[in-house]
Amino acid sequence: MKTLNNLKTKNVPNWCPGCGDFGIWTAFKQAADKEGWDNSNTVITAGIGCHGHINNFVALSSFEGLHGRALPVASGIKIANPRLKVFVFTGDGDALSEGGNHFIHTARRNHDLTVILHDNAIYGLTTGQTSPRSPKGFISKSTPQGSFEEPLNPLALAITAGATFVARAYSGDIDYLADLMIEADKHKGFAFIDVLQPCVTFNSMYSHFFYQENTYQIEADFDATNKQAAFDKSLEWDLKKIPVGVFYNVDKPTYEEQIVQIDKVKVEKRDIASLYTKYS
Ligand code: SF4
Repeated sequence: MKTLNNLKTKNVPNWCPGCGDFGIWTAFKQAADKEGWDNSNTVITAGIGCHGHINNFVALSSFEGLHGRALPVASGIKIANPRLKVFVFTGDGDALSEGGNHFIHTARRNHDLTVILHDNAIYGLTTGQTSPRSPKGFISKSTPQGSFEEPLNPLALAITAGATFVARAYSGDIDYLADLMIEADKHKGFAFIDVLQPCVTFNSMYSHFFYQENTYQIEADFDATNKQAAFDKSLEWDLKKIPVGVFYNVDKPTYEEQIVQIDKVKVEKRDIASLYTKYS
């Protein structure tokens, strides 16, 4: 079994020192170690961006899709073998801009995936351009006079599109994020975690200090089965009050459960080797 230590690869992470990606990476390995996620039961996919490098730093089967295409790749893997746990790592540009259409429809169909959004509110890999999550007025290489666009709210989008588990965490709170990843994995359906991830090189506004000062844990008695309450909570983003925790959590049939062909042909029990011989 792969563990926290042997999930390491020979590749040394090339993220900038202090990048929030380190927290997400560590939390995932911590969760994998605790739950026994390994190559026999787990696959990860990623899109394009700094987040996508995680494929190189976790010793699991992985697929790095084209920009914005981590979700359709993951959906295909899950349909082909519903027994697998499929984790999707994606960035705010990757998921909400290039892959925005996939995000909406994968959530709407309730594919049984765990989606982890590296939400740094900037395009980091291409050295600092305004992203769909950058706040209005944000100054970057692509908007030197300040962005005049409103930012997109990924939680509100996920809830309204049809996601059945919607949560938010800060990348520096590694233990909580690891627990949230485990809870999201156990959820049947489209589980989405918006991870507030500082880009220490190109986004000085949303720093570690900023998130440590301005986030608060959602109240223990919050009703996460109430869609209206979840939506209202998701709108509660102002510069002094950013909720983290589980916003929405309901049970609905997954996409995979409803595909009759999967039950009929028992895809998950196929002998891949004999199929390969038959069709090659
Ligand atoms: Fe992280 Fe930003 Fe550096 Fe990319 S550019 S590795 S997001 S700090």
